[in-house]
Amino acid sequence: MVRISKELAKNIEDHGRQCYPEECCGIMIGRRVGELRIVGGTFELDNSQEENRKRRFFVTPKEYMRAEKVAAENGMELLGFYHSHPDHPAIPSEYDREHALPWFTYIVLAVAKGEPKVMTAWELSESRDRFLEKHLSVEQSL
Ligand SMILES: [Zn+2]
Repeated sequence: MVRISKELAKNIEDHGRQCYPEECCGIMIGRRVGELRIVGGTFELDNSQEENRKRRFFVTPKEYMRAEKVAAENGMELLGFYHSHPDHPAIPSEYDREHALPWFTYIVLAVAKGEPKVMTAWELSESRDRFLEKHLSVEQSL
């Protein structure tokens, strides 16, 4: 299960709305407790450049390092990534699977006509051949 506060879910929705009709993407930091993933913070990755818009949630080594640093500073770890699907369902694409890494959690937000809709959470199967959907629990506060 993936737990996220309403506030952080709203950050992702706002980012998705702001980037529409482009995809937004960002990083999630938080904690792992057994199978549980608790999102403790999100931050946006810049997609203002053409190059970045095309790469979607592909993250540069520099951004990884920054994410790891921010996570460590907050006593958390790098949990994974979120991105939006403008006018597409909140289901990871084949592209997403090919670029995903095991261990990380992926949140996908559907944005239809500029409005945030369904948000889902996924992790790669061990064999990396498919995404497994995780229950995403949006909570008042964490
Ligand atoms: Zn995608």
